[in-house]
Amino acid sequence: MKQFAIIGLGRFGTSVATTLINMGYEVLGIDVNEERVNELGDKLTQAVKVDAIDEPVLKALGIRNFDVVVVAIGKNIQANILVSVMLKEMGVNKVVAKAQTDLHGKVLERVGVDKVVYPERDMGIKVAQALVSKNIMDQIALSPEHSLVEMAVPPDFINKSLEKSNARQKYGVSILAIRRGVEIIISPHPSQVMLEGDILVVIGKNEKLQKFETIDI
Ligand code: ADP
Repeated sequence: MKQFAIIGLGRFGTSVATTLINMGYEVLGIDVNEERVNELGDKLTQAVKVDAIDEPVLKALGIRNFDVVVVAIGKNIQANILVSVMLKEMGVNKVVAKAQTDLHGKVLERVGVDKVVYPERDMGIKVAQALVSKNIMDQIALSPEHSLVEMAVPPDFINKSLEKSNARQKYGVSILAIRRGVEIIISPHPSQVMLEGDILVVIGKNEKLQKFETIDI
């Protein structure tokens, strides 16, 4: 069973930590702020009040042995970078760090962080996309130009087959799967008819997807 350590129990760190706990994983929470530690003490496997910049203390906690360590320190960018560097130098297998800006993210990548996340930026993109398209539910960027989108079936497509909707030719996007309640129809046949309430999983170029998402608005 994988073991996780989360450094910085702000809004983002707390959300990551409690989600992992709800999934049944063991989570050590670390924060310099006693209140944050006390608040989460009962919810996590263990929560300790530690300044993560204190290398000997981190070592004493056995941080090296955790499978994944998430650096969720937010505003204090200096602490975020220093702690990330220390963790990689200690030999932590996988370090995930939260970046505040693109430049901060580049620095984290340069110092060897395994995965850089931009929660505010990504959430901003998702909210903006949801504002523009009432159909879209979730979106994953596959490259700067391509995305995978989960969206409600456009009203125009209801009771039409994939073949008849002509999504690929007309809009340049591919429907990879259809979610219908608990059922998932993977690689649907061209004769598959879309029903009201269906959720489509669609892949394509962003510009094409944007047009597809906004049909019927
Ligand atoms: P968020 O936007 O996710 O709430 P914050 O910057 O507000 O991010 O919170 C990050 C958390 O990281 C805070 O609870 C803060 O006490 C903690 N933190 C900041 N510096 C350190 C450090 N050196 N060691 C441990 N925890 C820290």
